[in-house]
Amino acid sequence: MQPADKLTQSKIDLTLSGEKTQDEIKLEQSGDIDALQRYRRNVVHQIEYPYTGRALELLRIEQDLRSTVQEEQTLAKKPETTCSWPIYRNDVQAELQALNKRYWLLERQWWKVRNSFVEGPLIRAFDLWRSHPLWYMHRILVEDCVRRGGCCSRSCGCCVDRKIDKTRQLGAGHCMVLCGCCHRARGFELTKKEKMELLTDFHIVNDGSLYRLRINRVSIWGLSLDSHDSPFDMIVIPPGCEKVVLKEQMAKGKAEQVDETFILIDEEENEEVGASGY
Ligand SMILES: [Zn+2]
Ligand SMILES: [Zn+2]
Ligand SMILES: [Zn+2]
Repeated sequence: MQPADKLTQSKIDLTLSGEKTQDEIKLEQSGDIDALQRYRRNVVHQIEYPYTGRALELLRIEQDLRSTVQEEQTLAKKPETTCSWPIYRNDVQAELQALNKRYWLLERQWWKVRNSFVEGPLIRAFDLWRSHPLWYMHRILVEDCVRRGGCCSRSCGCCVDRKIDKTRQLGAGHCMVLCGCCHRARGFELTKKEKMELLTDFHIVNDGSLYRLRINRVSIWGLSLDSHDSPFDMIVIPPGCEKVVLKEQMAKGKAEQVDETFILIDEEENEEVGASGY
């Protein structure tokens, strides 16, 4: 049998399915993150990679994780008027225990789904984008939070740093319907029906809308149709929240990757039509 290097020299293709191609390696070496992620996404879509739908499932679980964390924080907060626990404290404890279990189970689900596409261009792209602790502060996701009336529309800084425990890191991100800070800022209650409508309008990951396509694409790949900049350069901090980020970033040694300005961009044009999945 000939040694492997001789076989390689004779131009026999030894690449396994899902392995990096020469083009991907070249793009990686070039340092052009936008081009690299676009290339990986195109490869995934061309080969009809069997696990693409699973990535959407991951986003659905992440929304449930965020919702659970925000509900936990709301329940755990002492009422500001009395600064003491109300008489239903035992009920609160029971609810918190139930939420703790819910988070634990969702986290296991998240890993189960992530393990289903453990190799290949999709996970290489996903892991690269998610290596930044503030990936969800991509300006498209911040814009979306602002438009939904979330904390990014104020200077409270909740989305940048929810002050959550290390065990709750998968629940970091933008406001869901149950965010306590948003509830206090609104100053009125939403009915169950209204909450359900908000969930339907903004949080169905596979509803096929261009809106969701845009949110899903940036959440998985860090890509948008508006720019060819590196996704890491698209991370923005809303005005008034810079101090929170500086503290956070200094701790993580990533200060150089975060913009100091926050610019709303108009995405009405350049929408992608007919693309599948995300
Ligand atoms: Zn909020
Ligand atoms: Zn807030
Ligand atoms: Zn936000």
